[in-house]
Amino acid sequence: MGYLATLWLGACIALGAVTASCVILEQEASTAGFFLLVAVVLLSLLDSFISSVIFSVVGAALLNYFFTEPINSFGISNTADLFSLVAFLVTSLAITTLVRRIRRVEKTQRAQAQLLELTHDIIIMRDKHDMITYWNQAAETLYGWKKEEAVGKFIDELLNSVFPLPREELQRIFLRDGQWEGELIHTRRDGTEIIVTSRWALQRDGAGNPLATLETNNDITRRRRAEDLLRKSEAQYFAEAQKLSRTGSFGRNFSSGEVFWSEQTFSIFEYDLEVAPTIELVRQRVHPDDIPVFEETLAKASSSTADFDIEHRLLFPDGRIKHVRVVAHATNDQPNNKQFIGAVMDVTRAKQTEAQLRHAQSEVERISRVTALGELSASIAHEVGQPLSAIVTNGEACLHWLHRQPPDMEEIEGCVNQMTDQANRAAEIVKRVRALMKGAPPDRAPIAINDVVEEATAVIRRDIERHGGLLTRRLASGLPLILGDRVQLQQVLVNLIINAMQSMASVSGRRELTVQSRLDPEGNVVVAVKDSGPGIQEANLQQLFEPFFTTRSAGMGMGLAISSSIVEAHRGQIWASNNRDGGATFSFSLPPAIKQEVRE
Ligand code: ADP
Repeated sequence: MGYLATLWLGACIALGAVTASCVILEQEASTAGFFLLVAVVLLSLLDSFISSVIFSVVGAALLNYFFTEPINSFGISNTADLFSLVAFLVTSLAITTLVRRIRRVEKTQRAQAQLLELTHDIIIMRDKHDMITYWNQAAETLYGWKKEEAVGKFIDELLNSVFPLPREELQRIFLRDGQWEGELIHTRRDGTEIIVTSRWALQRDGAGNPLATLETNNDITRRRRAEDLLRKSEAQYFAEAQKLSRTGSFGRNFSSGEVFWSEQTFSIFEYDLEVAPTIELVRQRVHPDDIPVFEETLAKASSSTADFDIEHRLLFPDGRIKHVRVVAHATNDQPNNKQFIGAVMDVTRAKQTEAQLRHAQSEVERISRVTALGELSASIAHEVGQPLSAIVTNGEACLHWLHRQPPDMEEIEGCVNQMTDQANRAAEIVKRVRALMKGAPPDRAPIAINDVVEEATAVIRRDIERHGGLLTRRLASGLPLILGDRVQLQQVLVNLIINAMQSMASVSGRRELTVQSRLDPEGNVVVAVKDSGPGIQEANLQQLFEPFFTTRSAGMGMGLAISSSIVEAHRGQIWASNNRDGGATFSFSLPPAIKQEVRE
């Protein structure tokens, strides 16, 4: 508001002064009109359209009052004066409007030009002779020349431009298309070279003649250097990887006949890097026996796009042999551009390792056969030995009852029955061993563990009694069936019972043997053989189940090892512990049949 008041006051004074000057100097209406018009136009530049109108009207009023007849009155006696006044008014309004519009356009242009200064892109305008007419702030920063230094210079000379194609050809394309885009190399004021992406747009006049060019540049020097570095390091990694993996690559263009080998391919074929690679050079290295395979592959390769994977040998002049594996295929991506691309791997070491491995494997097999045979013999001797000694015991008993007068036929019959049972057991064991040798799986049938306990204890009942042992059986009822091999499980129990008896033989006093069956919290069936012997020494607890571990002079150390492998084959567990009241307990647990079936 203050500005407006000042402006109007100033305007009144200015117009008054012009009028007064003209009155004093006794100027005519036309001269006074001219000066008033100048004053009105100048004042109008300072404010809005309304002010311009008011100044114009005030100017016209002053002109009317002081310079038209009658003087010092607003009356108009002359029609010509009326026209002059109207002409003054219209001219004043027209000029002020025009001037104001020009100023607005100028303001907008200035704002736009400022925007161009703000951008990071380099913006250069040049005339049709490539002389620089505009050079923005970013151009100053990048190239190092100030606006005043650049404007008026020929751009190609100033920037020492290097073009991707001859300048004349580029110009021809640019004039034809009206635009161009590409990479240029420019030299900055400090002499350093930079790479820019450059976009040119052509401005034509109404007749279509070239007028000016707008050039926008972006500095991509850093990006390009980083890309170059990356490319270099990638190539380095690639070469290193090929070296490490002993793999070379190769390519062959069918139409041009051109052959490419990577550095590693040269190294595999042992040729100098300077040699021009050819198929013939490869052929010279192929082992004579493998030439047919090689030729066949070459022939197939030129007629199909299938993948190839062959192995053959290379024979070097000094008689060395290398094994190579070649994988390749022909590509036909572009018409008339069939290429054969592949990799060649030096697999000599792998081949040697493979041969060594095969040798080692057959050695292991041989050793394990020998070992298995040894274990098997030990196992047969141990397992068959037990029923045989039972037969001997029963035979002796039989003789004893026979020599009685009169012979006790009932006892004799019992002994003979026992002998038959033991002999059958021995036969069954031999049968199992034979099956094992053939690799036949053990019999698997649902069995009640208590039956197994009954049968096993019946078999060695006499032995127990002969050694003065007292056998107690505590069998839980309602135990789930287990899935297993009846004879093998009997074997385990007999082993445990015999061990218990043997250990109790060293103690005087009671010789109590308890065989117990029960269910553990996990639902597994547990059988425990408890004795009143001397127990197990702490140091031996860990090794009891290892083959050939024994503390007995006549022992073989196989009983518990065999028992353990039988129980494990039934997915069970076997363990030993010392009793609080003396003696040891050997237990094994077996999963119930249902659980096992689900697992299998
Ligand atoms: P062997 O009976 O031929 O020695 P085993 O494998 O059957 O072979 O037993 C290995 C060892 O385990 C025995 O030598 C003995 O030291 C120990 N052992 C086995 N059963 C008992 C037991 N009930 N009490 C104490 N020690 C035992």
